[in-house]
Amino acid sequence: MSPDRLEAAAEKALKGKVGTIIVADVKNGKILLCYDPQKIAAKKIQAGSTLKIITAFAALTKGISNAERKINCKGAGCWYELGHGPLNIIEALSFSCNNHFKELGRELGAKKLLGYYKAFGLLDLDKQYYFSNKEAAGMAIGENKDLLVSPLDMLSVVLTFASRGKTQTPKFRNHGAVFDLIREGMHEATILGTARALRDLKVRVAGKTGTVASSDGLAATNGWFVGYAPLDNPLIALVVFVQKGQGYSHAVPAAKKILKAYFSDE
Ligand SMILES: [Zn+2]
Repeated sequence: MSPDRLEAAAEKALKGKVGTIIVADVKNGKILLCYDPQKIAAKKIQAGSTLKIITAFAALTKGISNAERKINCKGAGCWYELGHGPLNIIEALSFSCNNHFKELGRELGAKKLLGYYKAFGLLDLDKQYYFSNKEAAGMAIGENKDLLVSPLDMLSVVLTFASRGKTQTPKFRNHGAVFDLIREGMHEATILGTARALRDLKVRVAGKTGTVASSDGLAATNGWFVGYAPLDNPLIALVVFVQKGQGYSHAVPAAKKILKAYFSDE
């Protein structure tokens, strides 16, 4: 894969938009592409629903969730106003149900969530954060104005998921089954859920979208996609961030162009 080809794909993918695309090698964490014309890869922003993969990891490792547990979404409090109904964690990741993860966040509490964000390399380890339990539901879906991450931070997170914890602190290495369950949800997202525009790619992908209000007070959202491919033996991890965009309609199509270029899937 020539870097020029990847760079050309990124330029095309973000044409007319402010954003960044970062691609890394899962085996060694080396950055293969950092397309960042407006220098926002290190800018701290709200992660939105991409953070649900950490909420899922926290809930599964703490025994609050498992493959069977369903949580009912009646619509109020979720982006999907008709309600998702009862979903297990795989379906909740696929459809990005807010109520499912808000409930898990409430049950985990702010302190435990904060511990996981730090363990995944987010936030400043030396800084004192204070989040109340009232904020836990918002934190769990990546919506809190003090909980900010950069696209580069999210690359490190997605590398951890792609490598099943091997690139992260040793304590994650024994959670292969948890990473596998989350991978299933992230794959379903690319087939049936919020990243389903990727379903016709030849390469199988794991992904998570995010659409979150921008913190700068403008009436606009930012769009995210984080993911890795191929599903069973990941070679690359990628993060797409699109300012004034949405996950489903902007970040996912941009990610698709990168995946097509990398895997020569024209
Ligand atoms: Zn829902």
